[in-house]
Amino acid sequence: MTDWILEVREINTYYGPIQALKRVSMKAKPGSFVSIIGANGAGKSTFLKTTIGLVKPQSGHILLEGKDITRFSTHKVVKLGVGLVLERRQLFGPLSVLDNLMLGTYRFSRQERKSQVEMSLERVLSLFEILRERSRQKAGTLSGGEQQMLAIGRALMANPKLLLLDEPSLGLAPLFVTQIFETLKELNNQGISVVLVEQIARLALEISDHGYGLATGRIATDGPA
Ligand code: ATP
Repeated sequence: MTDWILEVREINTYYGPIQALKRVSMKAKPGSFVSIIGANGAGKSTFLKTTIGLVKPQSGHILLEGKDITRFSTHKVVKLGVGLVLERRQLFGPLSVLDNLMLGTYRFSRQERKSQVEMSLERVLSLFEILRERSRQKAGTLSGGEQQMLAIGRALMANPKLLLLDEPSLGLAPLFVTQIFETLKELNNQGISVVLVEQIARLALEISDHGYGLATGRIATDGPA
């Protein structure tokens, strides 16, 4: 057994000749809320993409509950219980809210899907009542804040034990940002471990247990939030 739900050990990630992550290490305890704070271009998105297997590190290791997932496909990492909410939300605009949510359930087998879908859907719709009201509306016509809720909802449909989020505050009005952060804290209180990358340090750290500072691809600082 390990004490960490996620452990990243000295990863180096490159885009061609550009080194975007330099010996980055971090750890998250099960049930904890960890934030990684950094400015534009610090490497926040690259960190999450590397963690979930969308980008492969040249060296270093990523462990999920002690299991080395460094070379796993994203599909496999999601199947192991990791949910990712990407920057700029990446929804399917022409599809309905409900269809976008259903896309979050592909990690389940046909057998599992039957029992899981109803439970997950009810959980997401009671967390975001606005999505229930708008379930038939095209995702692309939702407001920015509603789209962010849908993106989080879709990740939750897969019933993740670890949720990774890339700047959920991006482009949102302050009221929506507060709402989204409150929801993330609520999810964390329900037992989901959260790793959040953000530029808005104060708000993110207020709801976190632990924080890391990322600057030009390196962890510059870390400590209790
Ligand atoms: P932002 O807050 O602006 O989204 P970030 O902290 O998420 O920034 P990354 O997107 O991870 O930063 O980018 C880190 C560095 O890697 C930047 O210098 C960026 O230009 C570079 N980079 C990111 N993606 C690619 C890519 N596909 N090809 C080449 N360079 C890239």
